[in-house]
Amino acid sequence: MVSVATGRRWVFLFREGNAQLRDLLGGKGANLAEMTRIGLPVPPGFTVSTRACVAYLQGGRRMPEGLWEEVLEGLRDIEQQIGRRFGDPAQPLLVSVRSGAKFSMPGMMDTILNVGLTDETVLGLAAMTANERFAYDCYRRLIQMFGKVVLDIPSERFEDALDELKRELGVIHDYEIPAEHLQRLVQAYKEIVQQATGTPFPQDPFEQLRRAILAVFESWNNRRAIDYRNAHGIPHDLGTAANVQAMVFGNLGPDSATGVAFTRNPSTGEKGIFGEYLTNAQGEDVVAGIRTPQPIQEMAKDPLLRGAYEQLLDVADRLERHYRDMQDLEFTVERGKLWMLQTRTGKRTGRAAVKIAVDMVHEGLIDPREAVLRVSPEHLDQLLHPMLDPSWKGEPLAKGLPASPGAASGKVVFDADEAKVLGDRGEAVILVRLETSPDDFHGMLAARGILTARGGMTSHAAVVARGIGKPAVVGCSALVVDYERQEFRVGDVVVRRGDVITIDGSTGAVLLGEVPTIPPSVGGDLAELLDWADQFRRLQVRANADTPEDAAKARELGAEGIGLCRTEHMFFQGDRIWAMREMIMATTPEERRAALAKLEPMQREDFVGIFKAMAGFPVTIRTLDPPLHEFLPKHEEEIQAMAERLGVSPEAIRAKVQALTEANPMLGHRGCRLGITAPEITEMQARAIFTAALQCAAEGIEVHPEIMVPLVSDVRELMVQREIIDRVARQLFAEAGREIPYSIGTMIEVPRAALTASEIAREAEFFSFGTNDLTQMTYGISRDDAGRFLPYYLEHGIYPADPFQTLDRAGVGRLIEIARDGGRATRPAIKLGICGEHGGDPASIRFCHEVGLDYVSASPYRVPIARLAAAQAALGLREGDV
Ligand code: PEP
Ligand code: MG
Repeated sequence: MVSVATGRRWVFLFREGNAQLRDLLGGKGANLAEMTRIGLPVPPGFTVSTRACVAYLQGGRRMPEGLWEEVLEGLRDIEQQIGRRFGDPAQPLLVSVRSGAKFSMPGMMDTILNVGLTDETVLGLAAMTANERFAYDCYRRLIQMFGKVVLDIPSERFEDALDELKRELGVIHDYEIPAEHLQRLVQAYKEIVQQATGTPFPQDPFEQLRRAILAVFESWNNRRAIDYRNAHGIPHDLGTAANVQAMVFGNLGPDSATGVAFTRNPSTGEKGIFGEYLTNAQGEDVVAGIRTPQPIQEMAKDPLLRGAYEQLLDVADRLERHYRDMQDLEFTVERGKLWMLQTRTGKRTGRAAVKIAVDMVHEGLIDPREAVLRVSPEHLDQLLHPMLDPSWKGEPLAKGLPASPGAASGKVVFDADEAKVLGDRGEAVILVRLETSPDDFHGMLAARGILTARGGMTSHAAVVARGIGKPAVVGCSALVVDYERQEFRVGDVVVRRGDVITIDGSTGAVLLGEVPTIPPSVGGDLAELLDWADQFRRLQVRANADTPEDAAKARELGAEGIGLCRTEHMFFQGDRIWAMREMIMATTPEERRAALAKLEPMQREDFVGIFKAMAGFPVTIRTLDPPLHEFLPKHEEEIQAMAERLGVSPEAIRAKVQALTEANPMLGHRGCRLGITAPEITEMQARAIFTAALQCAAEGIEVHPEIMVPLVSDVRELMVQREIIDRVARQLFAEAGREIPYSIGTMIEVPRAALTASEIAREAEFFSFGTNDLTQMTYGISRDDAGRFLPYYLEHGIYPADPFQTLDRAGVGRLIEIARDGGRATRPAIKLGICGEHGGDPASIRFCHEVGLDYVSASPYRVPIARLAAAQAALGLREGDV
C-alpha cells in the first residue's frame, strides 16, 4: 500500500489519515480522520487533498490525472459502509462537499450539502424516510447551494422565489411550507438555473459531485478568502482540501437534532460541556437563528435524545483527553444516533485561556511548559483591563490608534480641570483633547479614559495612559475637536460636553453612548501561570515607573526592578508643576537654584518611596529629559494665571514661551542637553537620589540606584554629566560616612550613540535602549506627528507594522546589535536593557531575547505580559504559533 504521507495520491479515506496531516488534508479533514481513527462515530467519507487543489489551480484548471478515479473509489468505500449507493433511485446515498484549509478560515470558502439528489433520487429519499416534505426541502437546498457555489447564480434569485411562495401561502417560516409546494419551489429553482445558465440543473449525481469538488477548490481564490488570508498572514499557495462525507440528517423527526458544543466554557474556562442544540433541525438552522436553540444539558431531559447526549459527553471527554485541549464540536443526532461532524481547538477569552491552561496542568493533561505556550500575550492583555462585552454588537463612530488597552465609558469633557472635579466626585468621564500635555495629567488620572485627535503610539497621551493603566485611543484623526464650543464632530455627528461615549483602547474604537464592559479579573490561576513563566524565561522584566505607587503596583505585578523612572513625570502632579515652571522662568543660575531647591525635597521624597517599594531591586533613574515647552501654558488665560501665581509679568512668560518654541521639539533642547547647559539641574537630581538612597540604607533597606543620562549622542556629553554625578556622590558619602554602590549608564536612543557605542561604553556601565527616540530618529519620523501619515502607510502595507509599537528589526534592531557589540567590545560585562515602549510588546521582546539583552522594561500593567512573552521567547515560540 502507498504510504499516506509520501504517496502521490489525491484522495485519502478518513480512516487512513490522522491529525498530523493538516498540510495535506486541511484542518477539518485531518480532525475527521483522527476522530475516525480513534473510533468515534463519524459518518464515513474521504478528503480530496490540498495537493489536488493546488495541482488543479496551477494546472490550467483541469482535474489532475487520476483524481476522478480515486474519488470514485472513495465513494465506493462510503457506499459499502453505509449500505446505500450514490445515485440509487430507491435508497440513495447523499454526500456533503465541504472546504477545509490548513488554517481555519471560518465561512470564507464554500460548502454544498445533499449532493446526489435528482428528480429521480428525491423520490427514493422521500420513500426511504417516509417524509416527502423533508426530501424536497433537501433538494431545493441543494439546487440553491449548487446554483450559488458552482453556477455563480446570486442567492437572492432563489431567496426571492422562496419569499414569494411564503407570501402566497401566508406563512412566515420555511418549515411551514407543505410538501407539495416545496415540490413547486424545486421546479421554480430549476427554471432559475435553466434561465441563468442556459442548461438544466444536472441530473447526473456524479456530475454534481465532480463540479462541487472543483467549485470548492475554486473558492480558495474568492475575494473574501483572499482578503482573509491577507489579514491573517496565511500564505496563498496552500490550497484547500475538499471533504466528501455521507450526509446525516438532524431533521428527520423529534429523535433527531443538531448542535454545537465546547468541551469547556469558552468564556470562563469552567470545566464541563457547554453548548446548544435544536431538535429536528439542520446545522444551518442553528446559525440562521430562526428558532432559539436550547442549552445542551436539556438533551438529558429528552427521552428520545438522552442516549445520544450521554454518548456526546463521553465523546467530548475522550476528544479533550486525546487532543489535550478544549475542543469545539459539531454533531448531529439522526434518529437517536450520534454523529460527530467536526472537532477543532476552541477559541476562548483570555480568562478562559488562563483557567483552562492551569486546570489542565492540575489534571495532568499538559505540563507547565505547554500551559505557558498556550496562553497568548493578547489573552493576558484582555485579562488585565476591562473589555467591551463581546456580545454587544454595533458600529464604532470613529477609529483611532489603540494606545492603551481596556474599555471605558463616560461623559465627554474637554478640560483636565473639569475631568478632575467630576472624577473626584466619582463621575465617569472621558477626557477628550486634541493632544495631551503634562498640564493634563491630573485630568488623565481622574478620567476613566483618554481620547485624542492627534499623536501616535508614543505620544504623551499614549505613554502616560499605559503607565497609569487607563484606556486610551489616540490619533483619532476623524475627530474635529472644538474647545470653544465644547464639542467634537465626526462627519455629521456632533458630540457635546456631557454626552456619554465609550472608547476601546484595545481596538481603537470610539462608540456613542455607554457600552457594557466586563471587569478585569486577576486571580490565583494567573499568578500560578506567571510563576511557571518565570521559571522558563532568561530575560529579566522591569517596569517603567515614576512614582512610589506605580513602583508598588509594578512589584505586585512581578517587576524585578525599575528600568526607567522618568523624573520629569514626577513634576506633572498637583502643585509640583509650579516649582518646575519657576525653574524654567529663572533667568540666572541663582534663581534657578532657588527653584530647584523647591523641587529637590519632592524628588527626594519620591525616590525614598520608590527605593522602598523596590527594596533589593535595581532602580534606574533618568536625569531630567523634558521638552521644556510642554511645561508652559499655551493659552492666554493660562498665561495670566501663571503670571499672577509666580509674580512675573505676562510678557515675561510670553517671551519665555516664544524663546522655548522649537522647530522640532523632539530634537530640541531636551535630554542631557539640558543638564549640560544647566548643570545645577543634574546636581540637584544627583543630590536627591543619593540623599534618598542614604536615608533608605540607614533604615536598613537595600538600594541599587542606577543613574541614567538620556539622549547622549557623543561620549563627551556623558563624561560631563558623569563628572557631576560622581562629584555629588563623593561629597554626600563623605558627609554621611557611608557609601552606596551605584552605577551610571546611558540611554542609547540617538543613532550616533549606537554607532559609537564602543566609545560611550568607556563611560557607561549600562546601556538602556530608548527605542521610542531611536525609532523616531532612525526613521526620521517625529513621534508626535506620525499620526498624519502612518495610518495610511499601515493600511496600504507600506510598513508591515507600526514601528513605534513593534520594533523594526532591520533598521532599529540593527543599530541595537551594533551598539551591543560595540558596548561589549569595550566593557564585556556591560548591562543591556530596553525601556522604550517596545519593552512591553511581545514580538519586540522576542527580539530582545534573541539578541541577548539582560532585561526589558515595560509599563506596570504590561509587566505580566512581558513575563509571559519572555518565557515564550525562551521556549522558542515563533510568531503566529499561538
Ligand atoms: C525612549 O526614547 O525610548 C524613552 C524610553 O524615552 P522617552 O520616551 O521618555 O523619550
Ligand atoms: Mg527618549
